[in-house]
Amino acid sequence: MDRPSWLKRLSRRKNPGRVVNLCFIIVLFFSTLLTWREIVVLEDAYISSQRNNLENVAHEMDARLQFNVDRLLFFRNGVQSAISTPLAFEVLDNARGEFEQKRQAPAWNIALDKRRTLPVYGVSDDFVNKTSILTRENTLLENEITATLELGYLLRLSHSTQRLAERMLYVSRGGFFLSSDPKQNPQTIITTYYGLVTSPWFAMQSQRNNPGRGIRWNTLQEADSAATEAQKVTASVPIDVDQYWFGVLAMDFSVSEMKNFLLSAVEGEREGEYQLYDSRMHLIATSAGADDYPLRLTVREEAQLANDFGYDNRGGIRLVTSYISWEKLRNFDGVLLRIHRLHEGVRGDFGTITIALALVWMLFTAMLLFSWWVIRRMVANMAGLQESLQWRAWYDALTRLYNRGALFERALDAVQECKQKQLPISVIQIDLDHFKRINDEYGHQAGDRVLSHAASLISSKIRDTDIAGRVGGEEFCVVLPGASRETALEIAERIRNRINMREILVGKGATMRISASLGVSSSDENGHYDFELLQSVADRRLYQAKQEGRNRVCASDTSTL
Ligand code: GH3
Ligand code: MG
Ligand code: MG
Repeated sequence: MDRPSWLKRLSRRKNPGRVVNLCFIIVLFFSTLLTWREIVVLEDAYISSQRNNLENVAHEMDARLQFNVDRLLFFRNGVQSAISTPLAFEVLDNARGEFEQKRQAPAWNIALDKRRTLPVYGVSDDFVNKTSILTRENTLLENEITATLELGYLLRLSHSTQRLAERMLYVSRGGFFLSSDPKQNPQTIITTYYGLVTSPWFAMQSQRNNPGRGIRWNTLQEADSAATEAQKVTASVPIDVDQYWFGVLAMDFSVSEMKNFLLSAVEGEREGEYQLYDSRMHLIATSAGADDYPLRLTVREEAQLANDFGYDNRGGIRLVTSYISWEKLRNFDGVLLRIHRLHEGVRGDFGTITIALALVWMLFTAMLLFSWWVIRRMVANMAGLQESLQWRAWYDALTRLYNRGALFERALDAVQECKQKQLPISVIQIDLDHFKRINDEYGHQAGDRVLSHAASLISSKIRDTDIAGRVGGEEFCVVLPGASRETALEIAERIRNRINMREILVGKGATMRISASLGVSSSDENGHYDFELLQSVADRRLYQAKQEGRNRVCASDTSTL
């Protein structure tokens, strides 16, 4: 089965180890990329599910607030029109008279039918005159009294079932107020009125402080209270007729009702916490039960959220241990947060899938790394094996010289090259003398040692460009490209001398001196560039050297002729 040519080219050019590395890196990269993409998609889905949950609750809360805000605006319109066009009822005319009688008293009240209307409570002219924001200097003051009584009638009528609002109030700058609260007694009227006109939401409704004349929201935290949540939330609107500021219509929202609402929002869900903040990042209510620890934002997180609120109506931020999605309410000057903690996220569907995905990726990567290690080892072993096979195909294992086939191949190339370059080439044939005796006397192993020793002596006497090989049992051939017959003769003589010079260790303590006979032939004798011919001539001369007594070099045929 032939490998395709591109594969051959690739494996020849590239280190197979590098190809394996590259393939594994590509697989690892794409598997990581895919897993990462998958996790990003899951995260997006998680975020939008969080936003959806929050959006539903925010929507519901807005709807409830809308009802109350509508009510507040409805009452404002009612009071304003009642001031400009009062009802001509006798009972109201009587009330005007009653006010004229009582206005000097430190504390007073005007009540019509107690079952159908709310009473108006008031303070004295003196009180009003002492306080700069208050005044009775207006022509429609008596109309305002009757309008307030009418409001009391309306408030009694419109009992709300969607009670997010706890208390409705009208506080006049003319020294009186009306409240849906429980009744006042003469001792509490002054302090209550004083408390109302000094509360922040009252002064905030002056023409200078609220030029838009819209709804304002206030949260109040009682200073001596240890509770972190706001105690009271008040929505207020100014009452104006003909650009004159009469007073403030206010609606107190029950924080506990808001909390109940948030609690009911989390009832269906097993996880997540809702928190309602005002625009100054004061926590108003949380859905965390009494046993839970509500998640407190750090100052930095609050600052980051407050910064985000400036740009958008909804969003989300990822914190170390939780994900917070937020949405501004349409009918409230604040923001609703949904806090989803990490451990809840991990237990949820998205968390489980993400963890499973991450584990699969880890397993996959571990398997990939393991198989990479195995394949790298296999490739390294194969490369070593290939190298040793290649070496064995070319070299003789005992002498580490070229074997017969390799020598012939290299010698033919060298002859061609010398022929082209018009250089001489010489061949030396070498045969060890009486080698058989060594085997017979000292054994085959000693013979092998002598062979390898002789081969190393031959190698040491030739140049790098020369080619030496073992062509028979104890026969060697050396090809000398570029060497003339004289040079070859010199080299052959050096080799012979070197072999014969030293005693060789052949057995236990036994040494012996060996010798070799050499035959030399050269292309410059008759210009033939034919390796086989050159070798056979050298072989013939070797035989001649043996004939002549061994341990000698024979470089010409003359002596036999
Ligand atoms: P001559 O001087 O005429 O060359 O005598 P010789 O004994 O060297 O010649 P002969 O050709 O009769 O013997 C060669 C011997 O070399 C025969 C064989 O046993 C031995 N021989 C061949 N190959 C190996 C080898 O790889 N290892 C060993 N130890 N001996 C070898
Ligand atoms: Mg021989
Ligand atoms: Mg021999």
